[in-house]
Amino acid sequence: MALHQNTAIILAGSNLGNRLHNLTEAALFLQRLSTKKMASSSVYESAPWGNQNQPPFLNQAFSIYNAFTAHELLDVLLTFEKSQGRTRKHQWEPRSIDLDILFFNNEIICTPELTVPHKHLHERRFVLEPLAELISDFIHPVFKKSISELYS
Ligand code: ATP
Ligand code: CA
Ligand code: CA
Repeated sequence: MALHQNTAIILAGSNLGNRLHNLTEAALFLQRLSTKKMASSSVYESAPWGNQNQPPFLNQAFSIYNAFTAHELLDVLLTFEKSQGRTRKHQWEPRSIDLDILFFNNEIICTPELTVPHKHLHERRFVLEPLAELISDFIHPVFKKSISELYS
């Protein structure tokens, strides 16, 4: 039986502890999840969004491939965040690592625990910038615009 090969685009973010180390650990973890070599953007530094009273972020986007469903992938990502010391008390607080699913194939998913494409990605420069490096021609399945169009 041929397993369906899903493509997930993930954004990693860190603004607590050794940010670059946290991104590197996330990248190693994501590569292990991927059935072929993942693609990654450069690392970008950005000012915090939502709650501005916290340290700047490092962000990096990845493209991984595997047979998980989007919900299975979300569970795996949340478990990894926990293992890396991620806690949640307040919205948009400093975090060692945040792994968000930006896109999952061309799927549009709207459930209480998972919204794909990520609901804020089109309004966040720190997301669009690494995405533009990774998949500039990809068409956002809801807005029907390419990443480079959304970015400009
Ligand atoms: P934001 O979503 O604005 O980037 P955040 O990443 O800080 O904020 P979290 O506390 O990490 O928010 O996540 C809260 C919940 O969001 C998660 O438990 C998860 O169920 C849900 N969620 C919904 N859509 C997604 C998605 N596309 N990727 C990751 N988590 C998602
Ligand atoms: Ca996030
Ligand atoms: Ca998150």
